[in-house]
Amino acid sequence: MEPAQAVTSNGIGSYDYDIISWFNSISENAAVVQRETLGRILELNYGVEYLKKWFGDIKIQEKDVCALESLYTSLVPLASHADLEPFIQRIADGDTAPILTQQPITTLSLSSGTTEGRQKFVPFTRHSSQTTLQIFRLAAAYRSRVYPTRAGGRILEFIYSSKQFKTKGGLTAGTATTHYFASEEFKIKQEKTKSFTCSPQEVISGGDYKQTTYCHLLLGLFFCDQVEFITSTFAYSIVQAFASFEEHWKEICNDIKEGTLSTRITLPTMRKAVLDIISPDPSLASQIEAICEESQASDWNSLIPKLWSNAKYVYSIMTGSMQPYLKKLRHYAGSLPLVSADYGSTESWIGVNLDPSLPPEDVTFAVMPTFSYFEFIPLYRQNQDLTSGTVDFIEDEPVPLSQVKVGQEYEIVLTTFTGLYRCRLGDVVEVAGFHNGTPKLNFICRRKLILTVNIDKNTEKDLQLVVERGSQLLSKYGAELVDFTSHADVLHQPGHYIIYWEIKGEVEERVLGECCCEMDASFVDHGYVVSRRTNSIGPLELCIVERGTFKKILDYFIGNGAALSQFKTPRCTSNQMLLRTLNLCIIKRFRSTAYV
Ligand code: AMP
Repeated sequence: MEPAQAVTSNGIGSYDYDIISWFNSISENAAVVQRETLGRILELNYGVEYLKKWFGDIKIQEKDVCALESLYTSLVPLASHADLEPFIQRIADGDTAPILTQQPITTLSLSSGTTEGRQKFVPFTRHSSQTTLQIFRLAAAYRSRVYPTRAGGRILEFIYSSKQFKTKGGLTAGTATTHYFASEEFKIKQEKTKSFTCSPQEVISGGDYKQTTYCHLLLGLFFCDQVEFITSTFAYSIVQAFASFEEHWKEICNDIKEGTLSTRITLPTMRKAVLDIISPDPSLASQIEAICEESQASDWNSLIPKLWSNAKYVYSIMTGSMQPYLKKLRHYAGSLPLVSADYGSTESWIGVNLDPSLPPEDVTFAVMPTFSYFEFIPLYRQNQDLTSGTVDFIEDEPVPLSQVKVGQEYEIVLTTFTGLYRCRLGDVVEVAGFHNGTPKLNFICRRKLILTVNIDKNTEKDLQLVVERGSQLLSKYGAELVDFTSHADVLHQPGHYIIYWEIKGEVEERVLGECCCEMDASFVDHGYVVSRRTNSIGPLELCIVERGTFKKILDYFIGNGAALSQFKTPRCTSNQMLLRTLNLCIIKRFRSTAYV
């Protein structure tokens, strides 16, 4: 089932209505639509090698959708990406047999790899771009109900394509956002939502994030009166862009004044594309200069609405591992609403934010029942079990979308049009309620334990809460946390946690020592508390790293093929290269005295 495609004569209002009513109808019948979606996926890919392995010669075409759903979930096992990897690798190497899909795969996406530490290949098809367009249009329609924007306006989008490359078998590979920004659907989205990005393709796909950021800022300012909202895929990119603006604003103003382009932009196609757009505008340049001079004095507070007075909101993914950047984002955004964007992954889009007026902390995502077939593995927290060091949650049997319960936590499992069958996504979500018949999810965290030495088990979310507690002390002293990561050091006995902080501002050592103790005492995981009391886990170590360390980490990932658009600082790392960078940049160390 697809949303109505007709372009209406009376403008965006009824076009929005079409897509919202389409979503209402599929969400009302979410259970049926899910079965039909599974039926379509299996029908399209009937006979592929992977499915044959489990279905044998069973004729699935003869089954009704209910029977097919139970047959599928009883015969095809749950899989991790690692189980599917050998099949995807054969495709990447040029095997054109129908391995996962009947339609040959010509493009592969690289997941960001910044959460798991390793990039993974995931098949990408036209369907992937089409669903991206659908969810963007749907989200835009809901946003425009609350924050109407002017048709024909511009969007300042901090978006970045990574370099596309060819696999051994000649398939195009790159991040999913890269494929999308290069697709027809990206152009269609601009036309259908009647909002146009400030930067041309040559800037978005330049491949050097520093040059791209400079040009996004320059063009965003050149068109500042027309900018209706400011956006990026993940919130980190906006924070990173404004940190760079604090450094380069004078140069940007000069370029606007003279109609020139700084020599830091060395890519010829990017230079030409930007120079073709801009022209000297001394009056705009002096307005911006005056705003910047004044803003600098107030540490750039409310910079965004001062520079873009017609902007209605800031829009980006602000949940999950992006939550630590909210404080800085609020600082730049001042009174402008922060609207949290949708939930998806390289594997599939999952849910849409239907309540744009909610603060990012309260946002939920309504599952899109036509995009993939979703299953949910019930998870029960296991805080009391001290005997097992490996199981973080107890799992129950997966349930279909129609059987999830409000308040229960689940891991998401995906069956996609791109050839992933019952593939665990690794994200933990909680069902917060329903929109018609489709669940609204709270994103909780990545499932993988990130900090564990012994019987202790801490997730990304646990760490985030602890760091939030510790850094509250910093704010009292006028300093702020720029970024953080952690490592479980098991080389030295007893093993212990190390938390790395990059901070802005001066703070006395005594205060940092207190932050360290506060964090150590804030881990609520029973395994950690017990182990700390018996000293089988040593005191938490807080390492302060020099300014710019996390920029080096970003550069390291970008140098290895990640795209800024999908970058997420790893909240825990065992990557030797990263640890070397972090350890070389330590300027102060503290050991907790909590638990003595
Ligand atoms: P990628 O590696 O770029 O495919 O990243 C996908 C992952 O990013 C998801 O599995 C989530 O863990 C995270 N993610 C994506 N969208 C959101 C969101 N709206 N809120 C929180 N986390 C998200």
